[in-house]
Amino acid sequence: MDFDLIIIGGGIVGAAAAYRAGQLGARTLLCDRRDPGRATDAGAGILAPESSTRDGRLWYDFALDAVDYYAVLIEELAAVGVPDGELSQAYSRCSKLTVALDEDEAAALTEMEQEIYARQDERRPPAAECIRRISSTEARDVYYPLLADASAVLLQPLARRVDGRLMTAAIEHGLRSRGVQTVDADVSALLLEDGQVLGVRTAAGDEYTAGAVLIAGGAWSDAFGSQLDVQIPVAPQRGQIIHLQLPGQDSGAWSIVNGCSGYYQVPWPDGRVVVGATRETGSGFAPHATVVGVQEVLREALRLAPGLHHAAIHEIRVGLRPYTTDHLPLLGPIPGVKGVFLATGHGPTGLTLGPYSAKLVVEQALGQEIAWDLAPFSATRIIR
Ligand SMILES: Cc1cc2nc3c(=O)[nH]c(=O)nc-3n(C[C@H](O)[C@H](O)[C@H](O)COP(=O)(O)OP(=O)(O)OC[C@H]3O[C@@H](n4cnc5c(N)ncnc54)[C@H](O)[C@@H]3O)c2cc1C
Repeated sequence: MDFDLIIIGGGIVGAAAAYRAGQLGARTLLCDRRDPGRATDAGAGILAPESSTRDGRLWYDFALDAVDYYAVLIEELAAVGVPDGELSQAYSRCSKLTVALDEDEAAALTEMEQEIYARQDERRPPAAECIRRISSTEARDVYYPLLADASAVLLQPLARRVDGRLMTAAIEHGLRSRGVQTVDADVSALLLEDGQVLGVRTAAGDEYTAGAVLIAGGAWSDAFGSQLDVQIPVAPQRGQIIHLQLPGQDSGAWSIVNGCSGYYQVPWPDGRVVVGATRETGSGFAPHATVVGVQEVLREALRLAPGLHHAAIHEIRVGLRPYTTDHLPLLGPIPGVKGVFLATGHGPTGLTLGPYSAKLVVEQALGQEIAWDLAPFSATRIIR
């Protein structure tokens, strides 16, 4: 056997999986073909489950552990020699505002707020982390100078932002120091014998054998379904997101801003503000920007922050989120086949959940005890 574990897909999930496998001393191969539309490269990078009410209690509990794992991962990467500068560009703490712009949105915010406060009371976070209301004036004066007049604003003092592309590069740096092998390859088939996956074959005809194979192919993961006689229930959901530039602005300390309508803005140092995003379910594998998508994102960006009026359009990114119908990831073994595991389907929150999901599934694949019961994330809940 060539490897203990082969991982298909090198987005944030596959890279984090390979890193963890290497850390556990497993002989590991990471195969990636860097498709255009790789979600990790387009992700906005908001890590703030504490103020999110969209995805239910299971998602929330898992996401809290997942954001805690970031702090561990960052420390570990620093310890294996990833430079501090690289890590601080990839990940940092910041605040986040949730903003209602009219009375309807303010009513929706009040409902969200009740759920957030109930969860907050249950967890009893330190006072500095408590989510609270602030005035529109304070929001603009202290946290986000570009903000529109708001009807209501919730402040989350301690959130985090991650640049998916840079974070994945930092994890790759870390996994190389763990002895993981990587190959730029299109995995075209699984090696399958008597209901057991034994390895992979690439489009170039190379074959690699392994004790287990982990499919972390993002929106492309269902390509292996027909061979396994199942449908892996993940589909591409296109997201268009725009990087704006405000020359001369010191934006590093500005807050993330989330509108009640679902659109958001993520500021980075040196005047870069990322505004997004479309959520195009049913888009297919078509990772290009569209006129209507760009129009939608810019319209909503200006509604939240009229101060962006003269910003330069620096870059438009398009990613295909690995979407599942119930907004939960697909983690763990595939029923009826031995030696193959899934870590995909993270949809719009894969930068938040992905590294932690990957860690747990790798531990499971390598026969270790794991800190979470992954059964609720099993593909059996929706697989056909
Ligand atoms: C616009 C946008 C905004 C987002 N904002 C946020 C956010 O604020 N917070 C958050 O938590 N998440 C966010 N996300 C979601 C997050 O980016 C994704 O859930 C996450 O990046 C998915 O990672 P992944 O590794 O599963 O997939 P991907 O990053 O898509 O990577 C999959 C990789 O697998 C490779 N691959 C597939 N098939 C094969 C094969 N057969 N052989 C070899 N390689 C293969 C592909 O080439 C690709 O490199 C956002 C996404 C988008 C698009």
